[in-house]
Amino acid sequence: MTVPEGTTIWAAARQAGIEIPVLCHDERYDPVGVCRMCVVDVGARAYAAACVRPCEDGMEVKTAAPGVERSRAVLTELLLSDQPPASQDPKQTTTADNELLALAGHFGLSGEVQREEPALPGGSGRGVDLSNPVIAVNHDACILCDRCVRACDDIQGNDVIGRSGKGYGTRIAFDLNDPMGASTCVTCGECVAACPTGALTNKPIRNIPIRPRTELDQVDSVCPYCGVGCALTYNVDRKRGAIAFAEGRDQPGSKSRLCVKGRYGWDYAASPQRLTVPLIRRDDSYPKGALSADVRGEMNRGGYVEDTQPRAERRQLSAGHDVNADRAGRNGNGRNGNGRNGNGRNGNGRNGNGDGDGGRSGKRRRKPGGLVDYAEVLPHFREATWDEALDLVARRLTEIHAAGGPGAIAGFGSAKCSNEEAYLFQKLIRTGFHTNNVDHCTRLCHASSVFALFEGIGSGAVSTTYGDVLNADAAIVTGSNPTANHPVASSFFKQARRRGTTIIYVDPRADKMADHADIFCQIKPGTDVAFYNGVMHEVIRLGLTDREFIADRTSNYEALAETVKNYPPERAAQITGVDAAVIRQVARVWGAAGAGVIFWGMGISQHTTGTDNARCLIAMCAITGNIGRPGSGLHPLRGQNNVQGASDMGLIPMYYPDYKKADDPEVRARFERIWETGDLDPNKGLTVTEIIGSALKGGVRGMYMMGENPFLSDPNINKVRKALSALEFLVVQDIFLTETAEFADVILPATSYLEKDGTYTNTDRRVQLGRKVLDPPGQARLDWEVIQDIAVRIGLGWDYASPREVFEEIVAVMPNYANLSYDNLGSTGKLYPNPDPEHTDGTVVMFGEKFKTDDGLAHLVPAEWMPAKELPSDEYPIVLSTGRLLQHWHTGSMTRRSYALDAISPRPEVYLHPDDAAELGLADGAPARVTSRRGTIVLATRYSYREGRGSCFIPFHFREAAANLLTIDEIDPLGKIPEFKFCAVRIEPAAGSELAGSAREAAPQAEGR
Ligand code: SF4
Ligand code: SF4
Repeated sequence: MTVPEGTTIWAAARQAGIEIPVLCHDERYDPVGVCRMCVVDVGARAYAAACVRPCEDGMEVKTAAPGVERSRAVLTELLLSDQPPASQDPKQTTTADNELLALAGHFGLSGEVQREEPALPGGSGRGVDLSNPVIAVNHDACILCDRCVRACDDIQGNDVIGRSGKGYGTRIAFDLNDPMGASTCVTCGECVAACPTGALTNKPIRNIPIRPRTELDQVDSVCPYCGVGCALTYNVDRKRGAIAFAEGRDQPGSKSRLCVKGRYGWDYAASPQRLTVPLIRRDDSYPKGALSADVRGEMNRGGYVEDTQPRAERRQLSAGHDVNADRAGRNGNGRNGNGRNGNGRNGNGRNGNGDGDGGRSGKRRRKPGGLVDYAEVLPHFREATWDEALDLVARRLTEIHAAGGPGAIAGFGSAKCSNEEAYLFQKLIRTGFHTNNVDHCTRLCHASSVFALFEGIGSGAVSTTYGDVLNADAAIVTGSNPTANHPVASSFFKQARRRGTTIIYVDPRADKMADHADIFCQIKPGTDVAFYNGVMHEVIRLGLTDREFIADRTSNYEALAETVKNYPPERAAQITGVDAAVIRQVARVWGAAGAGVIFWGMGISQHTTGTDNARCLIAMCAITGNIGRPGSGLHPLRGQNNVQGASDMGLIPMYYPDYKKADDPEVRARFERIWETGDLDPNKGLTVTEIIGSALKGGVRGMYMMGENPFLSDPNINKVRKALSALEFLVVQDIFLTETAEFADVILPATSYLEKDGTYTNTDRRVQLGRKVLDPPGQARLDWEVIQDIAVRIGLGWDYASPREVFEEIVAVMPNYANLSYDNLGSTGKLYPNPDPEHTDGTVVMFGEKFKTDDGLAHLVPAEWMPAKELPSDEYPIVLSTGRLLQHWHTGSMTRRSYALDAISPRPEVYLHPDDAAELGLADGAPARVTSRRGTIVLATRYSYREGRGSCFIPFHFREAAANLLTIDEIDPLGKIPEFKFCAVRIEPAAGSELAGSAREAAPQAEGR
């Protein structure tokens, strides 16, 4: 056969349909040739390792000659002789997954070594490590093939695993030979997927045994968490009606990779706390308001949970391989008693109502925290039939609409739901109640980016994929913490750097991405415009612009150049805190790059200047000609799994599906025709934040809330509390009793992602099919059916038979989705726009010839730097930024019910630079009281050198220390996105037992109210 130069014998054999066995190799890794299982006879004195030996002209290879097979059999036998007896195997390894045992079967060897004692001594060299909640390590089963090392380093870029020891005692090591659970491992599970023996294996979750694949059903789907949209396969135990384990699946974007959420965070759907029956608020639970004491704001939900076992001590303990103690602490009875989790975790809120697995359940009442206290809230509702509940919803919304007009109704849809559900939801609000008051959490993540992108290039979607970074000479990652929020995308950024892409990271926090950057610029919070104006000043001064691109494909360049003239690097340095020399260096690298791409996150968008920030990024690309070619472009990393799709579907108040302007009479007429309706709202609707404001004033009086939890996710939640209490009627459709559901008149039990079919559009514009994995619990119903039932009850003649039928309507209505269908999406989905139905994967790079603006040009919009709305003062001297953790998602309703995710990240913490903390008298782990002009919370201090001095970071997932009690509800005037990334706070030591004030509103006389 003929192969390209450099092709290895192993790869050539594969092409010829000949499998050569390997243990240390996988086509995704660079070959190392250490296991010698792939040896072949090339006619030389010694056998050659096929995985590393390149083919040569005229080479004759015997892949399965008797001598070769004998060599492999002996090698297999030798490796087997060191394997631990199966009885010692704590790992639920299956023979189907264990490649060494499969080889043993092939060579007719017993997979079980019979001996009295383990072959290797325990002790410091080898042994079992169960310190990670979901991954087991059996060093005795390790054959030192280094697949896990390369998976961790080369694929995920986490650089956790190496080797330690010498000779017979050599073993893989996590960091400095720490137990896995105490190391910097992020539990992505890539090493487990790579391991060819039983050395690294998944532990069962919720006691569902991990059985051979042949005994499980495989369902191809997509991860339900972030916008990266990784393809995965759920392995389902049908007898138990449960997922046994998940694994990454090859797809052009995610390439089989997953992060901890995708691989281990799916068991929330099996929580006993799922809503299973419609609920109607009892008559004696009016007047309306929150129901649990902490959500009412009457008692503290202090998020401070004493950790009596400091981190350093835990490391030491674990290093001593006290496996049983560690196991108990993680999984069993130690959870409730050992002080690790203390009073914040145990008790009725979480467990008294049946949630929890094994050792988590606690009989004692705990101080509230973590999740809604079902025992306190549920008695305020009575069970109802679906007919009764839906009749009530339709009647009350219709009455309020009749009395108050279209402006009295609003709907919040969900970026967690499918495209079909988002489409039907907005159609219901628009055609049923004749209002454009329909929005979703895009308002809280990338609304300003979308505004700037539409204004600048006529499209809110990304111009290229995250994987295209591999073609870039330089990439700017800014206002983003991708290792936590888009972990699999970040693995491509890290991989690109190893292949030569220069990574420039710009962020106020030195997040992990900074460790992988060539240039890191730790700007002061809220100074992005000044930074990029400074860079553009220098790019222009050095003549590094793309003059042809500017002349042919942009407008308004002169105004931009005039504005950035006022931002010489020295001035930019003064504002941003980044050295002028570094700003110049960034300009040189960016200007000289043949292809440059910018990825950004909510650190750019969640500011009152969010639109200006994004305008600068668009200009950065446009003046250097970095759009429309491979390795170049603009990519706002989208947050939720379907926030791109929900926006595409028109789940936003200013656009109909496919971003057709809601206040354009021609557009309105078209949709009136398509939807066979009259009286569509001629005006743009209210956004999320405006709807809350309107409800406070009695404007919006009735709301339909599907899968949103604004009580925790929106800024200044004391205001949200008042708004939700003021609503005349609220229907909440969700899978759990959320904080927002406490304000509901009717609660409808919905299906989780895992229980339905539908399409989802990821950050790359990849439309993928999510497939039903499990049956819904109790009477929970499919969301699209519930929306349709309400539509029918208010007089709309809907008769959709399935999500497929809804998708066909979407494709017919939306040119961007043309040529997509349930039949051609396959197992990997397709990028839109998709030029033809048979096209392999849709369009990666957009805008190669023109932009989607009216004149086809990129419109450059200059921006002047403006400070944030609430600057630090003597009373509130510290800048607070909020965001996400790797292990948690949004308001935590899913991730805090996932065993793995909650076990790894169980409590709220305020991240503070150690020097700042020391000045404030706060030890690592000590309780801190954080106060803004809007409220106070109490939570543990976390020393973090990643924070800038004078700043702190609080994740917003934890209701017991709700960060949004502190945040400000000032918004960007154009994108209408709140300033989650900047408000002023005060931090003081608090007593461990301190309870007052965490959920309490600030005193009315407080400054600035
Ligand atoms: S789970 Fe992921 S981060 Fe942890 S050691 Fe394995 S590959 Fe590395
Ligand atoms: S990177 Fe995002 S989509 Fe991929 S597994 Fe993680 S959470 Fe899921």
